[in-house]
Amino acid sequence: MSTDPFTKEPDRWAVEARHRWWDRAACLRTDPDEVREMDALFFTNGNDKERVEQAQALCRECPVRWACLSSALIEEASRPSTRFGIRGGLRARSRKALAAGLPGTRSDREDVAEAARALGIFLIPAVPEPATPGPHDVPAAPVLPRAA
Ligand code: SF4
Repeated sequence: MSTDPFTKEPDRWAVEARHRWWDRAACLRTDPDEVREMDALFFTNGNDKERVEQAQALCRECPVRWACLSSALIEEASRPSTRFGIRGGLRARSRKALAAGLPGTRSDREDVAEAARALGIFLIPAVPEPATPGPHDVPAAPVLPRAA
């Protein structure tokens, strides 16, 4: 039986994957023109502030943000060359900093929250927020409830 590497809850990741979390992604599009638009937003130069903000606004409302971020951190831990663009509401450099702050490549949700707090990345509203939101990334976003 597999275990979610971040939550360590049995089969959470497998269950989410089975239900194809990406089908619920706020950035999911099917029209080719809109797909190109999304690509331009999410996989653009991280210094293009306007596009970054537009992409992160979508992430803030995304119901699968945690699954998206977990997936990115896992994938990028073994393949750093895939670290590009915005995933899970975070820019590539923020995900890199976040990963570097984790105790291991397989960390639980609390580890991720702690590392984010230390960096001033306002990630998860269920944990104490920094007095001043950090410069890095998006403000509060909903977090998927833990699997029962
Ligand atoms: S968190 Fe952002 S990048 Fe990830 S699926 Fe949702 S909208 Fe797309």
